[in-house]
Amino acid sequence: MKIVSTTRSPNYTELEIPVEFVVLHYTAGSLQRTLEIFMDRAREVSSHLVIDTDGVVYEVVPCLDGRPRRAWHAGKSRLAIGSGAGARTIEAFNDRSVGIELVNINGNVFPYTEEQYVSLFSVIERLKGLYPALGSPESVVGHEQIAGFRGKCDPGRCFDWARLFAVCYPNQGAPQREAICGWELAESVRGMLGAAGVVWEAESGRVRVPAGLDESLFNRLSALCEASLSADRG
Ligand SMILES: [Zn+2]
Repeated sequence: MKIVSTTRSPNYTELEIPVEFVVLHYTAGSLQRTLEIFMDRAREVSSHLVIDTDGVVYEVVPCLDGRPRRAWHAGKSRLAIGSGAGARTIEAFNDRSVGIELVNINGNVFPYTEEQYVSLFSVIERLKGLYPALGSPESVVGHEQIAGFRGKCDPGRCFDWARLFAVCYPNQGAPQREAICGWELAESVRGMLGAAGVVWEAESGRVRVPAGLDESLFNRLSALCEASLSADRG
């Protein structure tokens, strides 16, 4: 696994956090665009790690040195865990999680690459070694599980949760990780991306984006999905 630690985001709090969770996201754009956003102080967003489609891992906010700082990836977030007397609600995931962004224009439409899964599983193994609270499969969640009430829908329908739990947590069960985005909405987004010439090529297993296409389209489509999904849940 190749790890690049030379691109550091200024968007984090110099505060060491206890790591109890890993939160998965998709970038809704290219690696380059994602790193640009994370380097921009005005955007006030970041995540600890970004995994490109070729499997290269970018450590944008420190977390692999055993001194994880507080990145700004989860936003307003909450999750109900446990049952009966042990039930509790966890909030403020930036205070207690490592955020991992997987490069994907839209994880409800396009599959993740084999290289991304391989690197992600290695990263999770490494994080488990550093942060013992990650020993349970319950500790790996999607942004949609903790912020679906705001319409967040990543990593999305195309993410293979069963595979993650089978590889990283064998014989420990597979917690429910249902996608927030329904089939119909995903298909309409696929149609809009297709109309702009963005298609997935089975042969290469890669998404092809026409040269010169304005990437802000991907963010607009994500915002559209969020608005639609949060209205459904509002
Ligand atoms: Zn997210």
